[in-house]
Amino acid sequence: MEIKKTKLLIHICCEPDAVYAVPSMRNEYDLAGFFFNPNIHPKEEYEKRLSEVKRMSNLQKWELIVGDYNIRVWFDKIKEHKWDGEYSERCRACIKHSLTNTARFAKENNYDLFATTLTNSPRKKIEMLDEIGNEVEREIGIKYLHTNFKKKNGYLKSIKMSKVLNIYRQNYCGCIYSKIEKEQSIGGKYGREIIKTSK
Ligand code: SF4
Repeated sequence: MEIKKTKLLIHICCEPDAVYAVPSMRNEYDLAGFFFNPNIHPKEEYEKRLSEVKRMSNLQKWELIVGDYNIRVWFDKIKEHKWDGEYSERCRACIKHSLTNTARFAKENNYDLFATTLTNSPRKKIEMLDEIGNEVEREIGIKYLHTNFKKKNGYLKSIKMSKVLNIYRQNYCGCIYSKIEKEQSIGGKYGREIIKTSK
C-alpha cells in the first residue's frame, strides 16, 4: 500500500536558492513550488527569474504555481521602511508578505505545511525567517516547516548545481531599494570617475 506523503507548499524566492532545496524535499513530501515575488524590480528581472524557475520545474519535474505580481500591495507593505536597508524592518515586512500569501494559498488548497527556499540564501538570517514563519503560522492557521537549507553544505551544493545547469544568478536581492543600494555600494568602491588633469 502506498504511503500518503505530507503535502508541502514551498515558497520559491529564486532558482539559485531553489535548485538544491526543492529536490532535497521531494522524497519526504508531496510538494509544489509557489513563486510569489512582487518585490522583484523591474518587471523584466521578475520575468527572467521566473523563467529560470519554470525551466527547472520542467527539468526536475515538480509542480509550479505562480502567484500575483501586485507591486502596489507590496509597496504599501514596506513603504514606512523603504530606505532602512537590507536585514531591516523592510525585509521583515517583505518576507512576511510573501510567506503570508504562501500560507494562505496553502491553506485554501489543502496543503499540510508551508516553507520557503529563502533559508538557503546567505543574505537571510534563519532566526528572522523562523520568527516570521511562526507569526504567519499563528495568523493564517497552517503549520510552518522550519528548514535550514544552508546546512550540510546546501548553499555550496546550490552554487555548484547552478553552474552545471547554467542558472541565472542575480546580483541584488530583488526590490528597487536593494538594486539602488547595490549600485551605490559598487559605485562607492569601484565606480569613481578618474579625471586626469595636466599639471
Ligand atoms: S532587500 Fe530583499 S528581502 Fe529586503 S525588502 Fe528588498 S527584496 Fe525584500
